Amino acid sequence: MTKIKPPNYQFCPFCAGRLQVKDDGERERKFCPKCNWTYYPQVFTAVTALIRKKGKVLMVKRGREPFKDTWMFPGGFIEYGENPLTTLRREVKEETGLWVKKARLIDILEGKNDLRAPGNFHFLYEVAVEEGEIKTDGVENKDIGWFEARKPPKIGFASHIKIIKLLQRGI
Ligand SMILES: [Zn+2]
Repeated sequence: MTKIKPPNYQFCPFCAGRLQVKDDGERERKFCPKCNWTYYPQVFTAVTALIRKKGKVLMVKRGREPFKDTWMFPGGFIEYGENPLTTLRREVKEETGLWVKKARLIDILEGKNDLRAPGNFHFLYEVAVEEGEIKTDGVENKDIGWFEARKPPKIGFASHIKIIKLLQRGI
């Protein structure tokens, strides 16, 4: 379990009235007495793709904050209405130019140092892709390349450093 604090919202997102605090028997929760809306903090979910070829892994260099100019495995947040595989196909195509052929869930990691989404979970997939030329989107990222896990580039996200460590141990 990670000790994280969810966003401390003060106002109701529906009526903009000030939230009050009640005890629901388990813990204190914020609620709006006017709308009868209760704030249940939830974590974000994301997917990450492990794409391997000849002993190397495919990574992209971030063009945006957080951790601009560091490298990461392709992936992104699951949008409303998507299932994780839909997100995986979309993100892999956007960030690498390649189509997902097969995907297998290998781990679920916790994103501990991403302030946009504290405590997010991401589904790590081993991904087989169709043959093609690698090309990243150029907006979110500024470079793409293959790396050996024992000689990784500079990585910002703690969970992606963990993936490198798992690879070095031989997943
Ligand atoms: Zn309200």
